[in-house]
Amino acid sequence: MESIIQSSIEKASALLINGEVIAIPTETVYGLAASIDFPQAINYIFELKGRPRTNPLIVHVATFEQAEKLCMSFPEPLKKLANQFWPGSLTVVIPKSELVSDQITAGKSTVGIRIPNHPELLKLLEQTGPIAAPSANPFERISPTTAKHVADYFPKGLKMVLDGGACQAGIESTIVGFENNQVTVYRLGAISIEAIEKIVGEVAFFDSEKSHFVTPGMSKKHYAPKTKTIVTENIEDFVSKHSTSKIGIIVFEKSSGTTVSKEVILSPSGSLHEAAQRIYLTLHEFDQLDLDCIVIEPLPNQGLGRSINDRLSRAVHG
Ligand code: AMP
Ligand code: MG
Repeated sequence: MESIIQSSIEKASALLINGEVIAIPTETVYGLAASIDFPQAINYIFELKGRPRTNPLIVHVATFEQAEKLCMSFPEPLKKLANQFWPGSLTVVIPKSELVSDQITAGKSTVGIRIPNHPELLKLLEQTGPIAAPSANPFERISPTTAKHVADYFPKGLKMVLDGGACQAGIESTIVGFENNQVTVYRLGAISIEAIEKIVGEVAFFDSEKSHFVTPGMSKKHYAPKTKTIVTENIEDFVSKHSTSKIGIIVFEKSSGTTVSKEVILSPSGSLHEAAQRIYLTLHEFDQLDLDCIVIEPLPNQGLGRSINDRLSRAVHG
């Protein structure tokens, strides 16, 4: 049987323009995509992911002009950020125009938009116009960073996974909005807070405890491997107490020095960018190894390390 993993942008574009759902590469993680003009296809994305309908989708566009058509207003500080980081891994949440359906925004008056930084996807978007695309994982599972991850998650139900190689950023976009006159971070991600604060000054963090609006990126259990996962500074201690277990270890830049079934050093050169690139990739790999547990060393809590730690804390919850 022909693989659903293919590289024809023309075919991907024709499918989207005909109202089909396909998987697409982005620089952050792979997405499940549909043209914003096909409610049935958008509906199918929610179904395929098992995603609650209360959780909005991000809209991806090729140009700033397209983004402006999809919104009623574009607060100046968010425009400044978009100017700096687009095409790139920053999603802005802004008041939507009538071109974006309530179905996409889960009934909210705002829409999350970004211009992704991926050459094949940008070519595709130029042909299709805006597409809605959440990450291509079943609800609460780890986001996919290769075409194969997507095909493994959805062996049925997708006509095509457009192959764009392994994702360069490797974790989801950073999501920001503008509330009470302040840039507010809804989700940590592939653009660091430090980089954002360089452009707009100090940001606020959305407090999901104080709101009944919780997005999947904020829910406590999300991004979880099937294998039991633990985050600890004391890897040696953990290993010595579980000597009969089959353990997989993920460390940042130096080996844990323990003898276990499998150990991956995310970045021997100490690059947080490389660690982000490889974290989901490694978790997907470890999930195939039939381990008793995965033990992860927390990353330095700065820059992208903070975003990765945020994901790890959700991977272990519950
Ligand atoms: P995913 O692409 O699966 O990581 O999901 C997209 C993320 O963007 C989810 O956490 C959404 O809830 C969030 N998002 C999309 N639109 C909005 C919006 N209008 N307001 C707040 N968050 C949003
Ligand atoms: Mg997601």
